[in-house]
Amino acid sequence: MNSGFCGRAAFGDGKCIFHRENKTDIEADRFQADFPVELERLERSAGPMDFTGLVFPRPVNFTSHVFSKPVFFDRCIFENEAIFSEVTFREEACFREVKFRKGARFVEATFQEKADFSGAGFQEETHFEEAKFERHVILSHIILPQGPPNFSIYMENVRFPDPALVNFYKTNLSWFSFLGTDIRRLDLRDVMWYREKRRYIIAAELDLRKNLLRFQAGIPFHEYSPDDVAQAYRDLRANFEEHKRYAEAGNFFIGEMDAERMRPLYDDIWNSRFPISDLHRHAQSHDGAWRILYSVVARLRVNLSLHGIYMILGRYGESILRPISWSIVVITSFALLAGSELASIDRLPLEKLCHAFRNMILRNILLFFQMKEVTNLGDLCERLLGVLLLGIMFIAIRRRLERYR
Ligand SMILES: [Zn+2]
Repeated sequence: MNSGFCGRAAFGDGKCIFHRENKTDIEADRFQADFPVELERLERSAGPMDFTGLVFPRPVNFTSHVFSKPVFFDRCIFENEAIFSEVTFREEACFREVKFRKGARFVEATFQEKADFSGAGFQEETHFEEAKFERHVILSHIILPQGPPNFSIYMENVRFPDPALVNFYKTNLSWFSFLGTDIRRLDLRDVMWYREKRRYIIAAELDLRKNLLRFQAGIPFHEYSPDDVAQAYRDLRANFEEHKRYAEAGNFFIGEMDAERMRPLYDDIWNSRFPISDLHRHAQSHDGAWRILYSVVARLRVNLSLHGIYMILGRYGESILRPISWSIVVITSFALLAGSELASIDRLPLEKLCHAFRNMILRNILLFFQMKEVTNLGDLCERLLGVLLLGIMFIAIRRRLERYR
């Protein structure tokens, strides 16, 4: 037996039992037997506890352990669940570029000195609930799977120290859940978001939608309520407003309102109200038609509301372009409607028809801006739509001007 690069007894490939990748079952057994001894040895020896690059083949459980020296898990691979719940790290704890293949738990862990997770890779649910970070927290360049978030990194009810000591640089925060954590003053510059139709979406909302609107393959990962999701967006909005980043704050406001819009549907399901809850129950146990029927009814429940109309017409007063586009649609369609009546009655030649149509457009613009008398029901409808769209436009413009004041 020769000595590996880490100084431990090595085998043919120059790696010791701890560093060897793709361990066989026998090697994994050996690791399990030898690791406690190694842990004790490092605890007694001088200097930090260096586990750099170890490959843990089985679940590891450090629950309630106290690391009283600096500890390095840099570039380790945890092929199974890693449990660090209620662990106390008295000195620096480094998990740089570590790979958690099957999730990790740091529930109620205490980091009394720097906690460094830069470049760490999370591939399943990770729990930091009620963890206490007392010094620097580095969660920059976190590596997450491709595509929309399908699990969360729960940093709920976490106490962060001075916000200047928390770093999420280049990490995609859509995967994080900060419910119950005060994130108002954290510096969230240069973080990333999962986006859909120009809107930032957090994992909790995808989870809520999965539970309420769709029946996709796979179990929902958490049962968030519309309240939870709205609160998560509200907290993010508070952060961005605090830092005077109003465009993003407005983006999160849309998320907040979208979550609120789900509330009647959610209430119906949980209060067993007919017909939504019955349809939901059927859709859960049957494939095909029931699911389609449920999702149609659910979508109607969500969209046919004041909030739903406000969203469609003006993204809750966040978009100026949207009410303007709708105004153009309203004016031209009412003009076309009136014009087509004219054409069918008088059989005018094309040239005259164009002229008549231009006049129609002008007339309808005046109607839309409330500057023309109403003569029939169509005019009344157009004037009412005009009031509504102009109001939404006014709200959007005022909101933008006030924010940049
Ligand atoms: Zn080694």
